[in-house]
Amino acid sequence: MDKDSSKLQPDTIAIRGGYQRSHENEHSEAMFLTSSYVFENAATAAKYFSNELQGNVYSRYTNPTVRSFEQRLAAMEEGEQCVATASGMAAALSVIMAFLQSGDHVVCSQDVFGSTRVMMDKYITKFGVTVTYVPLANLDAWRSAIQPNTKMMFCETPSNPMSEIADLEALSAIAKQSDALFVVDNCFCTPVLQKPLLWGADIVVHSATKYIDGQGRCLGGAVVGSAELMEQVVGFLRAAGPTLSAFNAWVFLKGLETLRVRMQAHSANAAALAEWLNAHPKVTKVYYAGLPDHAGHELAKKQQSDFGGVVSFCVNGGQEAAWQVIDSTKMLSLTANLGDTKTTIVHPATTTHGRLSSEARAAAGIVDGLIRVAVGLEDIIDIKADLELGLSAL
Ligand SMILES: *Cc1c(COP(=O)(O)O)cnc(C)c1O
Repeated sequence: MDKDSSKLQPDTIAIRGGYQRSHENEHSEAMFLTSSYVFENAATAAKYFSNELQGNVYSRYTNPTVRSFEQRLAAMEEGEQCVATASGMAAALSVIMAFLQSGDHVVCSQDVFGSTRVMMDKYITKFGVTVTYVPLANLDAWRSAIQPNTKMMFCETPSNPMSEIADLEALSAIAKQSDALFVVDNCFCTPVLQKPLLWGADIVVHSATKYIDGQGRCLGGAVVGSAELMEQVVGFLRAAGPTLSAFNAWVFLKGLETLRVRMQAHSANAAALAEWLNAHPKVTKVYYAGLPDHAGHELAKKQQSDFGGVVSFCVNGGQEAAWQVIDSTKMLSLTANLGDTKTTIVHPATTTHGRLSSEARAAAGIVDGLIRVAVGLEDIIDIKADLELGLSAL
């Protein structure tokens, strides 16, 4: 990076932020595929290991390509520091391991990503941390769930698959009042559409696997926040090892460069599809915060610059009908992934949210007739035509 990146516009930061050329003067960012680094002599090695000298020692600790991705994403989120992780789940885990201990309590939105919920319910509780789930958009429920030992509030907005919207400013006020860390999973919006730190969140977590990659190739994640908080996350990562590989960091670094144009195109396609589905006789309800009658529409307009690429809808006839729609499409990819150039379709109740109890699923509104579409970048004419094939099978 030749110029002070804080003086550059967001689109420029996404393309040029966080990169220092190596002595080879490469134009495209270099990929440093190396597990370790050599030292000039034994005395220097000792200095690196005792932290008297700062530098690369081992890629579980630092790697130049991973560092570039971290610096670029931190600048895009307007956070001080970013710590890259092996997956989105590793990002959430690292935050939990860094800041919680036995006896602590977490308040979490009930419709967080399925694995986040399984991690909390099955594993975090094993270490004496308790979790209370609340409806994402119900501020009173958040307030009354707070206990004297509440150390963290965790939410995801917009939610998956219902596109519910959290009031980030109000939630951060509740967190501050109760001395809890406010953590926001910003996977669905990316910093292009929403910057939770600017609304008072303490920490942002990402699954870079989704829109940051953008083409469904690599797994990865990231945590962003103040230098002080990130130091603790780095400590866990270095000791425990869920670090991001240099190869994946390189893919994500390139992904960030096209993120804005992709997010705008995903959002435009999704908005067009949501409107079309809303008028479709076989569709009973559409969930997309871009629709004016969606409960979170005004809030989304306030804190997001667009509505993102995920649209969910219901058909009559429960699971059988939903499966029939899905199986009658020809082009859409039947996969749980999202944030890909290719449009994906999935039945949440029997896949992404299948591990939840039926009560938890019902509370999150994930009924058997619900279908989620993560709208890609194909021509909207072809996406609609394929879904029409599916819906006309009913
Ligand atoms: C996919 C996803 C995750 C988990 O990320 P992985 O990279 O699959 O571990 C977390 N949160 C949200 C919102 C996701 O969509």
